[in-house]
Amino acid sequence: MKKEFVVIGLARFGGSVCKELHRLGHEVLAIDIDETKVNAILNHSTKAVIADASREDVLKSLGVGNFDYAVIAIGDNIHSSIMCTLLLKEIGVKNVWAKAQDANHRKVLTKIGADRIIQPEHDMGIRVANQLQSGKLQEYIELSEDYSIFELDVSKKLSNKTIKDLDIRAKYGCTILAIKHGKKVSISPSAEDTLYEGDMIVVMGNNNDIKRFEEKGL
Ligand code: ADP
Repeated sequence: MKKEFVVIGLARFGGSVCKELHRLGHEVLAIDIDETKVNAILNHSTKAVIADASREDVLKSLGVGNFDYAVIAIGDNIHSSIMCTLLLKEIGVKNVWAKAQDANHRKVLTKIGADRIIQPEHDMGIRVANQLQSGKLQEYIELSEDYSIFELDVSKKLSNKTIKDLDIRAKYGCTILAIKHGKKVSISPSAEDTLYEGDMIVVMGNNNDIKRFEEKGL
C-alpha cells in the first residue's frame, strides 16, 4: 500500500531513508535547510523543499500535519531536532521517528513523545556484534525487551530432521515461524516439514531461550 512520508534532514541517514522510501514507490516529502542536500534528493523524492523544520509556521505551511509518518534525521543540531519533534507531535503527526546522536538526546526525544528513536551507529553496532558472535544469526527483530524473532542458519546437525524430530518448542520454548529454502519460504511450517543444511529458520521466543537453542540446539 502506498503511504505518505515526510523526511526531515537529508544527510547520510535521512537521505538514505528518503531514497529507499521513494524507490519502494511511496510519496515522500523531503525537507532540509541546506540547498545542496535538497538539490541532491530532487530525483529521489516526490517533492523536496528548502526549509527550516524547527519553525512551526514553516511546518504548517508545508502541510506536514497531514502526514501519517515523519522521520526526523537531524542529528548534530540538537535544538532543531528537539523543536521539530515537539512541533510534529503537537500538530498531530501520528508516527514520528527521530534520529538521536547519543543516549541523552534519546532521553529527551523519548520525553517529548517521539514514537521511535534510532541511533544508527549504536543500533547497527549492536546488530553487527550479535551477528558476529553468533556466526549463525542472520537477522533479528526485537519484539520487546525479552522477546525477539531471529533468523538462523540451519547447521549440519539439524539437516534432514523434521520440526517434530527437533522438538524445539518443548526443549527450548521457541517457535519456528518459517523455513527459507533457497528462494522458497514456507510460512507456519508443519511438524512434518524437514530442515536441510543451508536453509534458514525464522524463530520466535524469549531471548534466553533462543540463545540456548542457538548454542546447544543448532
Ligand atoms: P547524518 O549523521 O545522517 O549525516 P547530520 O546530523 O550530520 O546527519 O545532518 C542532519 C541534516 O539535517 C543536515 O543535512 C542539515 O542540513 C539538516 N538540518 C539541520 N537543521 C535543520 C532544520 N532546522 N531544518 C531542516 N533541516 C535541518
